[in-house]
Amino acid sequence: MEVEEPASGGVYASLAAGGVADVDRAIAAAHGALEDWGRAGAESRAACLDRLADLVKRDAEALARAESVDSGKPISLARSVEIPRAQTNLRFFAQQVRRWNEQVLTLESGARSRVLRRPLGVAACISPWNLPLYLFTWKIAPALAAGCTVVAKPSEVTPATATMLAALAQEAGFPAGVLNVVHGRGAETGAALVAHPGIAAITFTGGTTTGEQIARDAAPRFRRLSLELGGKNAAIVFADAAEQSLDTLVRASFQNQGQICLCASRLLVERCAFESLTRAFVGRVRALRLGDPLDESTEQGALVSAAHLAKVESAVTRARAEGGKLECGGRRPSELPTRCSGGYFFEPTVFTGLGPDCVTNQEEIFGPVVSIMPFDSEDEAVAIANGTRYGLAASVFCADSGRANRVAARLDVGTVWVNCWLVRDLRAPFGGWKDSGVGREGGDDALRFFAESTTVCELAGAARA
Ligand code: NAD
Repeated sequence: MEVEEPASGGVYASLAAGGVADVDRAIAAAHGALEDWGRAGAESRAACLDRLADLVKRDAEALARAESVDSGKPISLARSVEIPRAQTNLRFFAQQVRRWNEQVLTLESGARSRVLRRPLGVAACISPWNLPLYLFTWKIAPALAAGCTVVAKPSEVTPATATMLAALAQEAGFPAGVLNVVHGRGAETGAALVAHPGIAAITFTGGTTTGEQIARDAAPRFRRLSLELGGKNAAIVFADAAEQSLDTLVRASFQNQGQICLCASRLLVERCAFESLTRAFVGRVRALRLGDPLDESTEQGALVSAAHLAKVESAVTRARAEGGKLECGGRRPSELPTRCSGGYFFEPTVFTGLGPDCVTNQEEIFGPVVSIMPFDSEDEAVAIANGTRYGLAASVFCADSGRANRVAARLDVGTVWVNCWLVRDLRAPFGGWKDSGVGREGGDDALRFFAESTTVCELAGAARA
């Protein structure tokens, strides 16, 4: 397969697209390594993960550059957020499994139950293109820590850093067969992995439609399934916090060109602050520096592919057709560095005037397009925020902490940020309600997902009696 650089539109690498035979070989290798990896014990697996984290740190600059070239994201973002987070994911699950003790329960009769945690088997880890190494490590680290061996399929759109990580895993001393990376198209390589009888669990992050397909394919074999899917996240802004929320709102809307499942794509603003906030927000958005992702000062890079750019453009056409008022953006930029003239850039775009039920405010766009709506009461804000088929995340900006928390507790989503965005404590459960997913990642939830339990109940003295 050809791999493109989104900033230039040019092919810059080629990729071996794995077929069914490659998936078979990877799964066979993972099975071959499973018993020893499980028996190696938590400390030894954690030490491997820590060594891998050290190597990610050592090669951080090369990984950040590769991520930026591969995906079009600003190098400053890859360098400051995503590659450091990949390193943290590996260290976090190393730490987590070290303190993941066996549960022991006792009854008055003297019966003692020990809950043994045993590796589930070979795990299939399928990840998307928007935060390539960040999400790849978020999936493989808990699986490996819990003693599973892994066959991972990164997105074919952004294969670079997963390839680099696989080489680093060898250097870190992971035994052969423990971590296997198979590249290729979703409908072929990914589907072959999902359908394979040798897989015990599937953890998938990606689009809701793909998640539906995977759930269908996996169902007949009762595989354990974790699905992290799309979102249509609301940011609720009360008038008393409107001004202070501006910087965070711009970041929440447009970080990584809006291509983060957690980005706020619907801004709900208390009516008395609606006009002033819209004006100030649009002013900030217009000032975002769009340009070559490899330029240190760039704040908005390229969209990931020509196909995704076309999808975003058609969403903007639809928003206009639905009666949206374009406040800024809405087109490809006219001025770009020569190297980027064939790249997949789109201006950050803001609409007002769209009702909560229109398609633009209901369906995920996953790009730099935001819709701002007014609300009159807490109840109305909650109803609009909850009024989509998604339930991934939301934010509430409010100076009154009591009110903010009251609203937060009524939102049907997995994560609510109050006066902040994308702050993550990795111990907390993470995941979506409704069509945003099934299951929870993070902390012990992630380790439990990759483990099977056996309860051993022993009655002290029973044998003698
Ligand atoms: P996608 O669903 O197209 O692809 C994700 C991965 O699945 C890729 O590796 C792809 O090759 C593979 N795949 C595709 N079809 C498959 C099939 N039939 N069987 C097995 N694997 C298959 O998603 P994308 O376009 O790469 O990513 C964007 C989507 O991901 C957005 O909807 C976004 O909201 C979602 N996302 C969700 C989260 C979350 O945590 N909830 C995080 C990031 C991205």
